[in-house]
Amino acid sequence: MSVFGDLVGQDKAVALLRQAAGAAAEAVAGGRGAGMTHAWLFTGPPGSGRSTAARAFAAALLCPDQGCGHCEACHQVDVGSHPDVTFVRPEGLSYSVRQTRELVLKAAGAPTLGRWRIVLFEDADRVTEAAANALLKAIEEPPPRTVWLLCAPSPDDMIITIRSRCRVVTLRTPPTEAVANVLATRDGVPHETALFAARAAQGHIGRARRIALDEQVRRRRDEVLSIPRSLTGVGDCVAAAERLVKISTEDSDAATTALNEVETSELRKVYGEGSSGKGLNRGLVRGGAGALKDLESLQKSRATRIKRDSLDLALLDLVAFYRDVLAVQLGAVVELANEDRRHEVEALARASSPESTLRRTDAIMKCRERLAANVNPQIAVEAMTLALRSPV
Ligand SMILES: [Zn+2]
Repeated sequence: MSVFGDLVGQDKAVALLRQAAGAAAEAVAGGRGAGMTHAWLFTGPPGSGRSTAARAFAAALLCPDQGCGHCEACHQVDVGSHPDVTFVRPEGLSYSVRQTRELVLKAAGAPTLGRWRIVLFEDADRVTEAAANALLKAIEEPPPRTVWLLCAPSPDDMIITIRSRCRVVTLRTPPTEAVANVLATRDGVPHETALFAARAAQGHIGRARRIALDEQVRRRRDEVLSIPRSLTGVGDCVAAAERLVKISTEDSDAATTALNEVETSELRKVYGEGSSGKGLNRGLVRGGAGALKDLESLQKSRATRIKRDSLDLALLDLVAFYRDVLAVQLGAVVELANEDRRHEVEALARASSPESTLRRTDAIMKCRERLAANVNPQIAVEAMTLALRSPV
C-alpha cells in the first residue's frame, strides 16, 4: 500500500502531494521539476493527520517510486531512521532559538543518499518569535535539495513572513465512517467498537485507535465523562478538578518514565559511569553533572507539555459532551460524539437550558485558555468545575 494510505478522507491533499512528489522526482532526475516547493505548511484540526501527511510526503520524496510504501526508503522514513530526514519536536513548551539554529545548520548540508534533505517540524506553531526569525532565513534561501515540512493547526498560527513562503496543504477532519473503516480493516477492530471509537475521538484517527485498542484509555475517558453528573456540591467540584489533574499526570508519567530512564542511563554511559558500580559523581568527567542537569530540566519540561496536552484532551472530551447536550436541546438531528451516553446527554438536556449549556462550554474554553497561559492547573480546572456546576 502507498505511503498515502494512512491519510483517511484527504483525497484533495493527497492529490496535491502526489503531484508534488512527481515534480520532485523530475527535479532529482535533472528535469525542471516545475511545481517543487522547498517549504510546506501542513494545516488542519487536531487529529486530521498533519504529521502523518508530512511524513508520507517525506517518504514520497525519498522513495525512488514516489512513496511505494514497501521499499527501504519508505520504511526508514516510517520508523524515523532515514539519515536524510530530521524529525523535530519542541524540547519543551516551545522551540528555542538554539534548537532552531542547530537545525538550520543541519538542514544546510547535502542529502547523504542523494535525493532530498528533509526537516519535519511537528507543532511548528510552537516556534518562539526569535526562533521563527532563524527559521525564516533558512526558508528564504533554501539550499537546492533541502525541503522544510512544517505542521500547525492553521496558517494563522505561523507568522506571516514564514507562512507566505510556504505552500499550504489543508487537511480536514475525516468522517466517522472513514475512520471506523480504517480501524476495522487495518487493526481488526470489530465494526461496532470501531464506530464507537471513531465517534468518541471525533475524527482523530490516532486517538480513535487508542480508544479502540487500549482499555486504559477507555477507562480514563469514562472517568472524564463521569464528571458532569458528579458535580452537585462545591466539594465535588474540588474533587473532580483534582481527579482531572491527576489523570493528566498519570498520562504524562506513563509516557515519560521509561523514556527518561533510558536517556539518563545513556547519558551516564557517555560520561563514563561504567559497570564498575562506582557512583556517578566520582566517575564523571567534568561537565557530566551539568549535562545531566540539562537533561533533567529537558525531561521536566517535556513532562509538563505532555501533561498539558493530556489535560487539554480531557477538556475537549468535555466540550464534546456539552456540545451533544446542546444539539439535543436544540433538536438538531446529528450524530452525537457520545452516542454511547445518549441517555445521560438527554437527561442533562432536559434538566438545563441551552443558555446554561453554552455558558458551561465557555467555562471549559476559558479553562483551556488559562492553561495555555500557564495558570496553575488545579486552580484553572477548579474554577471550571465550579462553573460547570452552578445552577441555571
Ligand atoms: Zn518506497
